[in-house]
Parts: sequence; C-alpha cells; structure tokens
Amino acid sequence: MKDDILVTRPLLPSLDSYVDKLRVIWDGKWLTNNGPLLLELAGRLKERMKAEYLELFTNGHMALDIAIKALGLTGEVITTPYSFASTTHALVMNGLTPVFCDIREDDCNIDADKLEALITPRTSAILPVHVYGWPCDTEAIGRIARKHGLTVLYDAAHAFDVLVNGRPLVCEGDAAMISFHATKVYNTIEGGALVLHSAKIAEAAADLRNFGIKGPESVTGVGLNAKMNEFAAAMGLCNLELVDDAIARRRALTEQYISSLSGIKGLRLMDYGRAERESIRLNYGYMPVRVDPSLCGFNRDELFDFLGTRGIFARKYFYPLISDYECYRDRFDSSLTPVAKRVADSIITLPISASTTAQDVERVCGAIIELCKSKEA
Ligand SMILES: *Cc1c(COP(=O)(O)O)cnc(C)c1O
Repeated sequence: MKDDILVTRPLLPSLDSYVDKLRVIWDGKWLTNNGPLLLELAGRLKERMKAEYLELFTNGHMALDIAIKALGLTGEVITTPYSFASTTHALVMNGLTPVFCDIREDDCNIDADKLEALITPRTSAILPVHVYGWPCDTEAIGRIARKHGLTVLYDAAHAFDVLVNGRPLVCEGDAAMISFHATKVYNTIEGGALVLHSAKIAEAAADLRNFGIKGPESVTGVGLNAKMNEFAAAMGLCNLELVDDAIARRRALTEQYISSLSGIKGLRLMDYGRAERESIRLNYGYMPVRVDPSLCGFNRDELFDFLGTRGIFARKYFYPLISDYECYRDRFDSSLTPVAKRVADSIITLPISASTTAQDVERVCGAIIELCKSKEA
C-alpha cells in the first residue's frame, strides 16, 4: 500500500543520469566483457577502497565463490551461522566443510576467543562476516590465522565504505567480498567485488570469472561466468555520485532511532558508543534491535507482527540461523552456538534506507512505543 514503510528501498539515480550512461553503451555497442564503464567503475572503487587489487563480479555470491577457488581453500573452513545463506552455501558448493563458530553478543560477529578450539589439521581458512557493517575483531582473527597458517576471507557484503581509523574495513584479511546488491548501501543492481592483496590471486580470480579463459587459445582453469556487465557498471557509476549523501542520511535516521528507542526497557541497540571510541565510520546499512521479552513484555515475533499491522515491514535478519535451515539442520547442531541462537531469536531490523524519511522513523518508533505501553498497562 501507498503508506507502507518497507525495510529498505534501493538507492536509485535519476533516470536521466542513467540514460546518459546508456548512451555510452549504445554508442560503443559494448555490453559486457571488460567494457569501458566497468573499467571506469573498477578504477574508481579501487581508489575509494585503497585496494591493491579489486575485481568486479555479477554479484557478491559469485565473488565469494571465486575467492574460495582462487585462494585454493580445502577441507574445513570456520565460519559463522549468523549470516545470509550465501556465506555457508559458497563453502558447501565448493565441497568444503563449514565449521560454525559462535558469535559475540555485543556485535553479532564471530567470537575470536572461540576460534582456536575449532581448528583441526583439516582447517584451511576462516570466513567471518562483518555483520551489519560492524567490524569483526580483525586483529585477533589475523593473529590466530597467522599462528596456524590459515587464510582469512571476509564476507564484507555489508561493509561498503566502513572505515576503521580511516582505513577501509574491506582491506582486512587475505581477501574480502563486498556485495552491490540492490538492497545494500551501494548497489550496481546486482554486483559484487573482491578486494585482494596478491597479483597472483587477483589474476586467478579474474580468469575464473570468465570461464578460466587466459587467452584466445588458452583455458587454464575450470571457471564460471561471473562478469559484471556494462548496464550494472553504469548503475554503479551513477550511484557512486549519490552514496556519500545516502550514508549521511542513513546516519541521521540512525541517530533519530537511537534517541527515540534507547530509553526503552527491553530493547537493545548496537553499541554506537564503541564506534566513537574505536574510530569506526559505519555505513548505517541496517537498524538492528534486539528484543528482550522478560523486560518489555513482548517478543521479537510479536513486535514484527504488530509493526506489520501498522503497515511497517521490518525484517528478521538474520533468522533463522544458517545451521537451522532445512538444507543444513540434519548436519549441524545449532545448540552448539548458543549466543548466535539467542541473537537470531531476538533480532529485528527496522526500516532504514536513503529514501526513508524522518516521519517514517517517527511512525516506526511511535508504533513500538504504543506496543510497549499496551504491555505495561
Ligand atoms: C547480500 C549478502 C551476500 C550476497 O551478496 P549478493 O550480491 O546478493 O550475491 C553475502 N553475504 C551477506 C552477509 C550478504 O548480506
């Protein structure tokens, strides 16, 4: 309905600015395979992310899949069950065994203190996720990886433009995948990138993205088709002009949420004070809130359903845990990651996007406060 408030809306440039880019495509008649728009976008993103090597892909998932292949991961990979399907699917699709590590209660990221106990002689890598764009403990993870000779591949799907002490978070680890899906802070309709630190791995990833084709008469790898096309690159170039503004708007909306909700008993927001203390520049991609029914008298599902009756569409992100998916639950026991289980059962992400308005946030918070009052009475 017209007045509905959706959890997110894509960042969209003006149609005119997109059409201007389309003219370049029509003039050059170059639709895909390293076209001029893709090269321009790759160059600008590489600079923006201070990346040694950056490669673009059809989507974040293919980028992750190809990173796994290019890095030559084998055996077991330690990862988090508190993520989107893509993270674990990429491992399983490559014949690897995911080993689920529990998460931290405060930032929902992999708990580095629990990593070492999960390392076996078959472990080749760690695949953590910067959940909601909040940085993992990259120092501790890096230290453990170096000690045991493991590769670190970050699912940085949420981490576009996140800075820690001025350094792009996507530069951490041996490789990081970023998603440019329509629902992310920055989009190329569908799209993704790998940030890499070795010429050899970058070249392998670039070849694998195009069927493993090295040259006209040379195919050196069993690759896939994961090339970004010019229409996606055109969207990426247009949205690059808008994304700083979009993040600033998201920040203002987040501050509005914080001031309206932080006093409410039983609702727990992320630790925004930590962002100040640790010089983390967030991208405000999500507005996660945890619901403690023992303090506020309603649980996450009741809040989710109540908001729905008010035309407000939030999201249970991430719920269920990956290890509880129908396709995985026979193989994994989610009670072994009790913190992740607890967080998944209590999390709700509230509407936020560049086109969310202050009135929208007021309505969302008003509805939450209404539910709280009805439970107090
Ligand atoms: C969006 C997302 C992906 C996948 O990215 P796509 O571009 O949609 O393929 C992977 N991991 C996480 C955590 C995500 O949120």
